[in-house]
Amino acid sequence: MSAQILSGTEVASLVRSEVAARVAALADRGKTVGLATVMAGDDPASEIYVRNKHRAVVAAGMLSFDHHLVADATQDEVEAVVRSLNADERVDGMIVQLPLPDGLDGNRVVETIDPAKDADGLHPHSLGLLVLGREGPVAATPQGIMRVLDHYGIDVGGKLVVIVGRSILVGRPLGLLLGAKGVDATVVMAHSRTPDLADLTRRADILVAAVGRPLMFGAEYVKPGAVVIDVGINRTENGLVGDVDLEAVRQVASAVTPVPGGIGPMTIACLLANTVAAAERSG
Ligand code: NAP
Repeated sequence: MSAQILSGTEVASLVRSEVAARVAALADRGKTVGLATVMAGDDPASEIYVRNKHRAVVAAGMLSFDHHLVADATQDEVEAVVRSLNADERVDGMIVQLPLPDGLDGNRVVETIDPAKDADGLHPHSLGLLVLGREGPVAATPQGIMRVLDHYGIDVGGKLVVIVGRSILVGRPLGLLLGAKGVDATVVMAHSRTPDLADLTRRADILVAAVGRPLMFGAEYVKPGAVVIDVGINRTENGLVGDVDLEAVRQVASAVTPVPGGIGPMTIACLLANTVAAAERSG
């Protein structure tokens, strides 16, 4: 078997066109849409993310506001920038680029964001709405995964989904989305203390790898015919690789997302979608 490759690049491009059309419709009513990023320090990976986000924001016809603080900025200084963006009517969505340098409390900075402007969907208010099954900004990477599954007609109802990785960025919100009433997957969340991981993942109809270990998941982790979603982004001397050994896994899986070109582009597209939705709500 050679698995179907689920292209996040293709789906992200559709989402971005849809967002650009919604931005244009708001512009017709005299409303601009703005996304702000706040980062501190000079972590190279964060700088690349912020640059890519900036390009995508501009390409969607939105205004981009980038605030780059020095590595030794204080907690008060970072929170003051967030508060000024809360008050800025041109800013509809905001992202705090994590991790912040040592000595800064990223959680407290995120909690300073006006929940109505939470583009990442990681504010406790947004996560609370997700737990309650109520409408609100949904964390961008899990939302991107749901959109890819939907686009390719992969029905998750009644399926066993094993998510490896329980972070607040990926695993936990994704578990809530997949296990919600009406979506109806049966979700098992695994982590570093899960025994006999391959025995568990080999039972999964859908396997989500969100660990951050290059090429950890070979064919022995995958049930024949399963769908495999690779969330990992790992920089190695051979370039960017996922958590899944694509060449091995594509021999057993029915479908798999590649790295690069899989879930990564979806995350940025969903940030834009959350921002335009916030702008529409604010009128
Ligand atoms: P994280 O916060 O470090 O979480 C990693 C998770 O993997 C933890 O739950 C950890 O378990 C688990 N884990 C670690 N080693 C394991 C092992 N040997 N067996 C089973 N589970 C193990 O990472 P994250 O922020 O969720 O990111 C995960 C990966 O996704 C990274 O490569 C990151 O770059 C990527 N990512 C990609 C996107 C995207 O846009 N595609 C977005 C976000 C993240 P414990 O909880 O027990 O420690």
